[in-house]
Amino acid sequence: MKWPYLVLIYVLVILSPLAASWSLNWPSRPFHQELASGLGMLAFSIILIEFLLSGRFKFISGNVGMDVTMRVHQLMARTALGFALIHPLLYQGTPTGGHRPWDVTHQLTLTTDFSALVTGIGAYFLFVILAASAIFRKSLECKYETWRLFHGLGALVLVCLLLHHTVYAGRYGGHPSLSYLWFVLTGIAVGTLLYVYLVRPFRQRKRPWSVSTVSRLTPRQWELRLKPVGHKGLTYEAGQFAWLNVGHSPFSLNENPFSISSAPGGGPEVSFVIKELGDFTCGLGQIAQQTPVYLDAPHGNLSIKNRSENGIVLIAGGVGIAPMLSILRQAKLCGRPRDIKLIYGNRLVEQIVYREELTQEDTVFVVSEPSKDWQGEIGLIDGPLLDRNLSKEHFDGWLFVLCGPTAMMDNVEDHLIARGTSSERILSERFDYD
Ligand SMILES: Cc1cc2nc3c(=O)[nH]c(=O)nc-3n(C[C@H](O)[C@H](O)[C@H](O)COP(=O)(O)OP(=O)(O)OC[C@H]3O[C@@H](n4cnc5c(N)ncnc54)[C@H](O)[C@@H]3O)c2cc1C
Repeated sequence: MKWPYLVLIYVLVILSPLAASWSLNWPSRPFHQELASGLGMLAFSIILIEFLLSGRFKFISGNVGMDVTMRVHQLMARTALGFALIHPLLYQGTPTGGHRPWDVTHQLTLTTDFSALVTGIGAYFLFVILAASAIFRKSLECKYETWRLFHGLGALVLVCLLLHHTVYAGRYGGHPSLSYLWFVLTGIAVGTLLYVYLVRPFRQRKRPWSVSTVSRLTPRQWELRLKPVGHKGLTYEAGQFAWLNVGHSPFSLNENPFSISSAPGGGPEVSFVIKELGDFTCGLGQIAQQTPVYLDAPHGNLSIKNRSENGIVLIAGGVGIAPMLSILRQAKLCGRPRDIKLIYGNRLVEQIVYREELTQEDTVFVVSEPSKDWQGEIGLIDGPLLDRNLSKEHFDGWLFVLCGPTAMMDNVEDHLIARGTSSERILSERFDYD
């Protein structure tokens, strides 16, 4: 599905409770009270859709990319937080009280029912804690997996509190049709969690993999090769990535995303180029052969399939070379149906992986801290470097595929746009969602 349709569906879903409330045609209250209800409802429906956005569903992230999906998840959470924070403040001055039989539409009074209010107050503070712990995750210095567990369980508690508060304290949420809608939307969100943490791992358990080899490529980069156990392997496209769970139960939260560096046509084994960073990646050298692995794959939209451009410029920084290797290797297997040029940057010469293999391609090696005998490009992958190595024909007609550090990606994207390359001809994958 094309992204404009996804955006349209998204907007329709988050607005559906508002539209349903409006269709009740109840007598209106002062504007600030209606706004308070509206913002509360919007915040809740945005939170519910957050479950879908973070659920790695291919009909979403397969179309717009996982990095874009997660960025939308983060931005919409902040928007919902803003709405939620304002929501109770706008009720200031509204008479409160218990149930009034003569005020069936709750036009005149706010509920003071303790249980309905306490779930709202609980949700208010929990939402702030969840959002703050996500925004400042890296400064918390807790393990990623621990944070992810806290985030998932916290979000589950949050929607339960919000459902209770909306149905029992909300003016509109108490109406049977609205209550039904909220239950359905909450059911979908919770169902997503069950699917992600129970159904999907259960399916992965039936398609295990095992470590074939782990080899050091450079001082801090490794190649991990996996072979399928009892099945034919994975159907994927060059440039896609997988979530790897190495040596844990398929139901474990210990999994990390890595781009596949092997070619889809190269046999059932899949390989990855992995750079040491934290607890899992720094322990790669200790992983034994035959260690069981589970794969959640394929994901990502860094695919050149169905692209009609005459040529492709691949631009990689550091370990961003992984998906480019897959694309290059697949092109070689297919007899290289179109021109491919690679621009590959590293800080040091020793960090270049598969140098011999890449030298056989049309590759521009870039090093920012070169050794004395370095013959290639020196510096960073930036505008002047692109201008030196690319022609008008590249900027005007070729497909660009980017993967690397955020600063490099931002710089290259800006330069390509400035040179007239349309954004439809720029594909990118970011390794960091923050
Ligand atoms: C789509 C994608 C493709 C990637 N491809 C490669 C690759 O080919 N080669 C490579 O070396 N690195 C790749 N990465 C980065 C890699 O996932 C992290 O370096 C790795 O997960 C770090 O794990 P760790 O346990 O060693 O370190 P940690 O200290 O646990 O994590 C370091 C950081 O990695 C990120 N991270 C960790 N676990 C996850 C997770 N389950 N989901 C999302 N982010 C997580 C978080 O930002 C975290 O702060 C990719 C990342 C993404 C999002």
